[in-house]
Amino acid sequence: MKIEARELSKIYGVGENRVVALDRVNLEIAINDFISIMGPSGSGKSTLLHLLSGLDRPTSGSLTYDGRDIYGFSDKELSAFRRRRIGFVFQQYNLLPVLTAKENIIMPLLLDKRQPDEAYLMQLAELLGISDRLEHLPHELSGGQQQRVAIARALIAKPDIIFADEPTGNLDSKSGSEVMKMLENIWEKTGTKLVIITHDRRVAQMADRQFVIVDGVLSEVKA
Ligand code: ADP
Ligand code: MG
Repeated sequence: MKIEARELSKIYGVGENRVVALDRVNLEIAINDFISIMGPSGSGKSTLLHLLSGLDRPTSGSLTYDGRDIYGFSDKELSAFRRRRIGFVFQQYNLLPVLTAKENIIMPLLLDKRQPDEAYLMQLAELLGISDRLEHLPHELSGGQQQRVAIARALIAKPDIIFADEPTGNLDSKSGSEVMKMLENIWEKTGTKLVIITHDRRVAQMADRQFVIVDGVLSEVKA
């Protein structure tokens, strides 16, 4: 699957409150790219990830997945598309507190009226080291375990691409590097494209394409 963003801009507010959060971003994501994006706080990183993943819509510009303009979809079509093709990992995990780890993981499938593939779920849990935590509630898990549950949730529908917004930002460096190793492992094993925002230079350098964003302007760091 090929993803192409053309001249994506996002402007918040009007008059003196006007903020250009994203300024005419062009980006192509091909085959199984692993992309990292770094940038200071407020530079537009989350805005960019939300636009690329269809969580939000731009002020102007286009985004195609295999030539299909996804902002042309209705909100309902867009959320169905996201559930099936796109995984998203948030810095704050965003697990539902009243559901067990397993229920959180399979939620995207249930919303789509699909049956979870039990064998695949077990394989993911094994890969992420959470097999013995599936019946626990989020508050009974460490931060690193919660993030690994969130990664399993992002992967359960076998998406073409995973977006991760500072996935290690809330973790200590040990659990952070475990989570990163797992993401990299999954990228290698499944060929799922991976776009990750990070403040950590070592994490950024694991990617095969590195970008920086400053004041909403995205540029690729040439190797
Ligand atoms: P980052 O993730 O790099 O910290 P963001 O993408 O969250 O940056 O924000 C980029 C800019 O857009 C910031 O100036 C922020 O204050 C502004 N911004 C983000 N979301 C909103 C919003 N919903 N309303 C108004 N301004 C926003
Ligand atoms: Mg952010």
